[in-house]
Amino acid sequence: MNYLDLDINLNEDDIALRQSAHRFAKEVMRPIAKELDEMTPEQVIAKDSPFWTFMKKAYELGYHKIYIPDTYGGLDLTPLQQAIIMEELAWGSVGLTVGLGVAGFFAFGGTLTGEDYLVDNFVTPFCECTDASIVGCWGITEPDHGSDTVMPGHPIFSDPNIKGQCRAKLDGDEYVINGQKAAWVSMGTVATHCFLFCQMDPSMGFAGSGIFTIPLDLPGVSKGAPLNKIGQRDLNQGEIFFDNVRVPKDCLIVGPEAYEVFLETTLSLTTASMGLYSIGIARAAMEEALEYAKNRIQGGKPLIEYPNVQMKLFEMFRKVETTRLMSRAAWNYNMNNTESAEEYSIIAKVHGTQSAYEVAHEAIQIFGGNGLSKEYLIEKLFRDARAMLIEDGSNDTLAISAGHKFIQTYPRMNDLT
Ligand SMILES: Cc1cc2nc3c(=O)[nH]c(=O)nc-3n(C[C@H](O)[C@H](O)[C@H](O)COP(=O)(O)OP(=O)(O)OC[C@H]3O[C@@H](n4cnc5c(N)ncnc54)[C@H](O)[C@@H]3O)c2cc1C
Repeated sequence: MNYLDLDINLNEDDIALRQSAHRFAKEVMRPIAKELDEMTPEQVIAKDSPFWTFMKKAYELGYHKIYIPDTYGGLDLTPLQQAIIMEELAWGSVGLTVGLGVAGFFAFGGTLTGEDYLVDNFVTPFCECTDASIVGCWGITEPDHGSDTVMPGHPIFSDPNIKGQCRAKLDGDEYVINGQKAAWVSMGTVATHCFLFCQMDPSMGFAGSGIFTIPLDLPGVSKGAPLNKIGQRDLNQGEIFFDNVRVPKDCLIVGPEAYEVFLETTLSLTTASMGLYSIGIARAAMEEALEYAKNRIQGGKPLIEYPNVQMKLFEMFRKVETTRLMSRAAWNYNMNNTESAEEYSIIAKVHGTQSAYEVAHEAIQIFGGNGLSKEYLIEKLFRDARAMLIEDGSNDTLAISAGHKFIQTYPRMNDLT
């Protein structure tokens, strides 16, 4: 792998990490993702599926705990190193990378509070896991609530008329959880644990919610069928139902008193990570188009000699490079700052996913009819990139949310802590 990284501060460790992540993406993720793409959602998660080969190898290499500090058993990577790994893995497959990312978020959430109960029961076992037998998911959206669950700071978020479909009530030393999460929960049907968002004080709208880290083998938990969809078919998704599920009080990470701020902090990381994944998939599509344009002869010469094709390739290159700059900056800022700047992460997500989609779309144009054929990777990259415009918040509503924040908070002061 040989491309110029404009960050002149990359050291030998960063480059070695990039090379090993790229090798894993190329040798393990690409072939497995292609196989999974052609399977039914049920086949994808079957015991003997290559999905589990990927998961086990990723856990063996520690890619499931790249966000977790070494004090908790994680890898102690710098934000730049995390960003580099995310880009490379998403080059291999964005669906598998998203799945691996959500798999560890319940443990990462535990490190944000550092409470002994959460660390002993969830964080440490997850970090010690090398066989993918502990897999988390992130359950926030509900059948009737998508965008409105991910708009902290916006007036919609505190509207008391909006009633959540998954609620938690305190009963003695336990919370009782009832309701369900959407069919879109990534890793929903394979997860052993959930980073679960529940409404607790409906008079505050979604702002009156809380987040729990819970195991999913408790009485009263059930799951739906794995979701069938056009893109990111290698990412398992599905509903989770809760029927009088009792969890110890200590499973609560944050309640209504600090939920909105905590969610903003969390989303400032997840949306920035979507920007980082966008670089990988956009770069993959650009490279496919470049290689194809060099080899396809039309009108007696390779496509690459035509100025319109050169122009398209430059536009792809521009989008990949600007996505990397913005996404790394938003990730680095929000990983280092106690007061998050979510609107910058939303720029990274909206710009990055839109760019990845446009790059894949234009790449298909360069491929001509072959771009529509299952024989070439590019049609899969296009379908996977399309899903990203909705994943982790629809770009439309994220823009509304970030626009609201920008108007209220601009100009911000530089306040690194
Ligand atoms: C690949 C993928 C992975 C996902 N992973 C997870 C996961 O791990 N966990 C999880 O909980 N969820 C997950 N989701 C769900 C995702 O977060 C939601 O799909 C997303 O937030 C949009 O919600 P929705 O689909 O219900 O669309 P809706 O909220 O119904 O919005 C549809 C459209 O309506 C418009 N709209 C909606 N609200 C407004 C508004 N207030 N103002 C103006 N226009 C509006 C926008 O144009 C929007 O695009 C995933 C989704 C995808 C596609």
